[in-house]
Amino acid sequence: MKFSIKLVLSTMIVLALALGFSGFYFVNNVFENSLDREVGQALDESSILGFAFETAALNVPLKYSVLPDSVVEEIASKLEMGGQSGGRLLRIADEEKNILYTSSGFTADEGLLPQTDQHTKSYRVIRAQDCFYVHTCVSINALNRILYLETMKDVTDVFTERALGFSLYRKVTLVMLLTGMVIMLFIASFLTKPIRLLTRATREMAAGDYKYRARQISRDELGQLTGDFNRMANALEETICKLEEEIEAREEFMGAFAHELKTPLTAIIGYADMLRSHKLDEEKSIMSANYIYTEGKRLEAMSFRLLDIIVAKQDEAHLQETQVGELFAYLQEMFAEKEGTDIRFSHEEAVVRMEVNLIKTVLVNLIDNACKASENDAVADGAGSDTAAVIEVTGRTVREGYRIAVRDYGIGIPEAEQSKIVKAFYMVDKSRARSKNGAGLGLALCAEILKIHHSELQIESKVGEGSCFSFILPAEKRAYEE
Ligand code: ADP
Repeated sequence: MKFSIKLVLSTMIVLALALGFSGFYFVNNVFENSLDREVGQALDESSILGFAFETAALNVPLKYSVLPDSVVEEIASKLEMGGQSGGRLLRIADEEKNILYTSSGFTADEGLLPQTDQHTKSYRVIRAQDCFYVHTCVSINALNRILYLETMKDVTDVFTERALGFSLYRKVTLVMLLTGMVIMLFIASFLTKPIRLLTRATREMAAGDYKYRARQISRDELGQLTGDFNRMANALEETICKLEEEIEAREEFMGAFAHELKTPLTAIIGYADMLRSHKLDEEKSIMSANYIYTEGKRLEAMSFRLLDIIVAKQDEAHLQETQVGELFAYLQEMFAEKEGTDIRFSHEEAVVRMEVNLIKTVLVNLIDNACKASENDAVADGAGSDTAAVIEVTGRTVREGYRIAVRDYGIGIPEAEQSKIVKAFYMVDKSRARSKNGAGLGLALCAEILKIHHSELQIESKVGEGSCFSFILPAEKRAYEE
């Protein structure tokens, strides 16, 4: 059953109970008050009637010392006729409680007589056929006789009113319940709207639409729940996106890896087959063996690079405070003998947190790439074929930390390729890269190393003008924060 229907039903039950009890109490209270009033009136009337009887008895001729039964009947008959609407209902009994006179229509039994004596008045409410009466009994003292006067006062109206009251109240209750139900349906529908929106959002998400969010329409607990749900959905979407990207990257990696493996292997197998199945002259044999060796070397280099990447991915950063000068001195010494290039190093002295050997690997890769991109055959117009290509390696303190950049004036990288070159096995010009023993893994390794330094590679490049690869090693505080 729907929650809103449950809400409506429970409210209806509470409303019905409340209306039922209050209605019963109200109608019954009115009835009891009216009945008490009628009983009071009946008792008053019987007292007045008794008094009238006693007065009438005073007018009896003097010859009677005791009121005779015939006079009792006569007075009773007169009193009976004196009623406003066609006669009173009364009964007279003597001292022994023997009935002396009864009005026609006086149907009450004699149950009240034994309970009444000279000093008490008694009454009860009785039902005769479909009518209700107040039956009273009082004693009268008339001419040396104690008589008992019983009356019956019709109070059917009071009971009819009660029945009418209950019937009316039932109708009012029914109308109120129906009206209440309609109003409650609207209220319940309004109150449960956030739940419906949340349910829809969960269904949409379960069906794979991770972008769907529940609309927050209130600020109460349900509104907060919607907010929390949306926050959870954001986190979930982010994680799923990351996972999807990772799966995609892995698939791309596997495809590229298989492709990169196939090329040298095909060459190795082809030349090895030629060597074993043909008798080749010495020159061809050496050439074949050479191909096998260089392709084998390329495979070896590739497997080492891959291993480096895997290690870098799993590595936790063991960053240490390092003097930047030490790093630059190492690079300067390493590339001192590099022919055909003029590598200019300049740096601001600083102490930076880094894993120095890993950063050395990054910079060696970047400088190596810059050298390859600046080599004479690489630069399209051949300008500078006589002069050494300039490469600048700089280190500067910036607001965010310490920025190291490697700038070359070589071939540059087309804009569309710039975001792809950090992917494993990606090479802008495959044949050229392969001829230089490249496998498209250097920048991927750099990116992994920088990731564990909470940094990333920035690439600025223009075809024919050169490239600048840079990264910022975050200032100490930020490195800790992250
Ligand atoms: P590789 O081992 O082939 O050098 P990298 O991952 O280091 O692989 O580089 C990927 C590709 O990016 C290279 O093949 C090259 O085409 C391009 N590249 C890298 N650095 C530069 C640069 N400084 N100038 C121009 N192209 C570059």
